[in-house]
Amino acid sequence: MQFCVLGSGSKGNATYVAAQGRAFLIDSGFSGVEIERRLAAIGVETASLAAILLTHAHSDHTKGAAVLARKYNLPIYANKGTLAAAAKMLGSVPAIHEFQTGSSFHLHHFRIHPFAVCHDCVDPVGFVIDNGSCVLGYCTDTGMVSRLIQHRLTGCHGLIIECNHDPDMLKKGPYPLHLQQRVRSSQGHLANNEAARFVAELLHDGLQHVVLAHISETNNNPALAYDAVAAALQAGKKPVTGISLAWQDRAGELITLVDCVEHGAD
Ligand SMILES: [Zn+2]
Ligand SMILES: [Zn+2]
Repeated sequence: MQFCVLGSGSKGNATYVAAQGRAFLIDSGFSGVEIERRLAAIGVETASLAAILLTHAHSDHTKGAAVLARKYNLPIYANKGTLAAAAKMLGSVPAIHEFQTGSSFHLHHFRIHPFAVCHDCVDPVGFVIDNGSCVLGYCTDTGMVSRLIQHRLTGCHGLIIECNHDPDMLKKGPYPLHLQQRVRSSQGHLANNEAARFVAELLHDGLQHVVLAHISETNNNPALAYDAVAAALQAGKKPVTGISLAWQDRAGELITLVDCVEHGAD
């Protein structure tokens, strides 16, 4: 399985996932042209996509979805709450597949499990994506790590995890108090220290790569996010996994997960 965070942060989010000749996007929060450009930058033709999955209705995750869906005849997969909240933005699209949070569905050979996260909109989700060889976990836009989230992301071979803010920078930064409270709340975004603790808990021998995503440009610094997670992993006395950063203004690294079936993965 290959994946690449094409961009992440409050100005737009999109992630490319591919395996066995099929590919899809998780979220499409940039303009259609920008997504095409970023896919081209990693050598992928937008026409090769099979679908767009939506995590939640916030515009930084949905604003380019309809344009791409119409241009490339892509079905949109989302739950009822997201579809209702994003209805205006989506307009008419070629096909909609409604999934239920908590129930797995199939997209070609991918088995996809949407699970509830804690965020201030209707029915937000993260995804666990299993292609029969590897498991990738995607979890951004959550104010806390619930037991459910922890349970769902246990055993993943690749992880895309939110590392949104440094609590100190948020406190001393330009955000007015009500916005700070929104970011910090259990329905907001995950702080570096929370993400670091979570990744350390999820660390296991089969974990190959962690991408830190949705890093705030105002209330965080990529180096702080990276150091927090790297330190937590090093303290864990297991082999340190690959860590990379997702960027707001450009595509991150295209990551290949080695097949894990032979390692007895779940
Ligand atoms: Zn977001
Ligand atoms: Zn959001």
